[in-house]
Amino acid sequence: MNKKGILTIISGFSGAGKGTLVKELVKKYDYKLSISATTRSPRQGEEHGREYFFLTRDEFESMIEDNQLLEWAEYVGNYYGTPKAYVEEQLELGSHVILEIEIQGALKVKEQCPDALLLFVTPPSAQVLKERLIGRGTENMDTINKRLSRACEEALYMPDYDYIIVNDELSECVEETNAIIENERNRTERRQDFIQLITEELKVFQEGE
Ligand code: ADP
Ligand code: 5GP
Repeated sequence: MNKKGILTIISGFSGAGKGTLVKELVKKYDYKLSISATTRSPRQGEEHGREYFFLTRDEFESMIEDNQLLEWAEYVGNYYGTPKAYVEEQLELGSHVILEIEIQGALKVKEQCPDALLLFVTPPSAQVLKERLIGRGTENMDTINKRLSRACEEALYMPDYDYIIVNDELSECVEETNAIIENERNRTERRQDFIQLITEELKVFQEGE
């Protein structure tokens, strides 16, 4: 029987290390990563169709109108959204899919897919967050400050998530995250077919008494 994959949503402060963590999970454990659409400009080294589908605002708005997005949100002046088709296809095939998206989008997906697993990634401290954003070297100080100020608002939503993942030592964080997703397979709601099967099997013993 075809078992649906688990939909995992990873959110967290900009600079927490979500992208780094997700890359490792995909490389080591073959999770399927949804590629988002965005209207922000590519950073150095980013490619259309690999990190994001880089679109104009008109193109993005057409996708919204055509109902092609599972969710979308505006983040620090740009649109970001998850193309629906790939996610649905992979889950049906039984693959585990990761969405690396911000909080408004994560909560919208949770409403539509209540069995989605919500993970919030954070650095061990606010100071480390600032250092990582500066160290990444991809944004100017003005954008970094906007992202830090946004992080302060985002912290209010941490209690809405299923797990808080502290990304201190990267390899430990990768193993911990993978273990959480693996364990999720055994949640009672996801094992209804097995419960039914063994209940039926056990009835044979009862009838044989
Ligand atoms: P996000 O996707 O959450 O914005 P990134 O994955 O781009 O964050 O990480 C931000 C910066 O922090 C990058 O320069 C990355 O190399 C670094 N980084 C990520 N995880 C760790 C870690 N566990 N320890 C030290 N540096 C890290
Ligand atoms: P960045 O510009 O740093 O790549 O991403 C900014 C924020 O947008 C991050 O918090 C990232 O998780 C989020 N994001 C990326 N893709 C999507 C998406 O498809 N939908 C939503 N809602 N947020 C996204």
